[in-house]
Amino acid sequence: MKAAICYEYGQPLVIEEVTLDAPKEGEVRVKIAATGICHSDLHLISGEWRDRQGPPVIAGHESSGTVLDVGPGVTAYAPGERVIVTLIRSCGRCFYCTAGYPQRCETVFPLDRESRLHNQQGQMIRQGLRTGSFAQEVVVDESQLVKMPDDMAFDVAALLACGVITGAGAVLNTAQVKAGSSVVVIGTGGVGLNSIQAARIAGAYPIVAVDILDNKLEMAHQFGATHSVNPKTQDAIAFVRGLTAGRGADYVFVTVGNAKASEQGFAMLRPRGLQVIVGIPETGATAALPVGAFVQERMVTGSTMGSTRLGTDVPRLIARTIVTTARSVSRITRQGWLPQPPAASRGAR
Ligand SMILES: [Zn+2]
Ligand SMILES: [Zn+2]
Repeated sequence: MKAAICYEYGQPLVIEEVTLDAPKEGEVRVKIAATGICHSDLHLISGEWRDRQGPPVIAGHESSGTVLDVGPGVTAYAPGERVIVTLIRSCGRCFYCTAGYPQRCETVFPLDRESRLHNQQGQMIRQGLRTGSFAQEVVVDESQLVKMPDDMAFDVAALLACGVITGAGAVLNTAQVKAGSSVVVIGTGGVGLNSIQAARIAGAYPIVAVDILDNKLEMAHQFGATHSVNPKTQDAIAFVRGLTAGRGADYVFVTVGNAKASEQGFAMLRPRGLQVIVGIPETGATAALPVGAFVQERMVTGSTMGSTRLGTDVPRLIARTIVTTARSVSRITRQGWLPQPPAASRGAR
């Protein structure tokens, strides 16, 4: 099979034939149908993460496809089944798994130490981000899979493997945003748009999108943002304070992997408010946060993959997607895209 290999960080990927070993105990081989390009893939192949193992490595982790083959002991999946392939690998038995946080699983799997991939010279190639789906096939642990409906398109389903679960999960699982709360989402890429959608689902208001690209802010409104601000042309901190009685937002989600954005987001937060850092910055990045603001009971946490429990969250999001799509279609025909908020409350576009 062919794969796009990173032999040197920062250099173009090389597409060549590679050998993929058969799945071992508990593993599944999947023929990849669709793969997104997540910013984490770009961080990896640019070398920003300075990971110790280094290249050669295959990126790609936001994927869907069809089961080709299962290893010994796999009973939950059979060849021909359509699946979403994620990087969340969990044992179901360790401290964090039994506590309900499989994204923090502590178990070391054979696939964490060895790779099933080799090039034609016999050199071992790492499966980046536990998946390596910039390739025609992958071998992953069965816990990384979720079955998808037959009538769901592969390219739509692939997004559920990272962007959707990370963005939506940060809001619904990690922060558990309450209805009526004010929410700021910094960065409106694949993850940020899904945080905005989830904030809408949770009943938040206002939902403020922050991005330096105006076309992305336009998109954010389609996904449910009620206000938007471009910090390049407007004071975003003052904008958020103006919408929240000068207090600051109840929740701030930083979906870009940038330490400066975390500092700006923190300045938008009210006392007792919660900032959730979702985007992964380059290795070693630090942010300067005023200690006195913590004494005023501001809270900061992070979210790994939206604190997602694949088996419960993904089917729920699929059901919600179908419902939302059906509703949106009727809305489009009746009154345009999503219902518009009252004119007086709309922010600068
Ligand atoms: Zn990702
Ligand atoms: Zn575990």
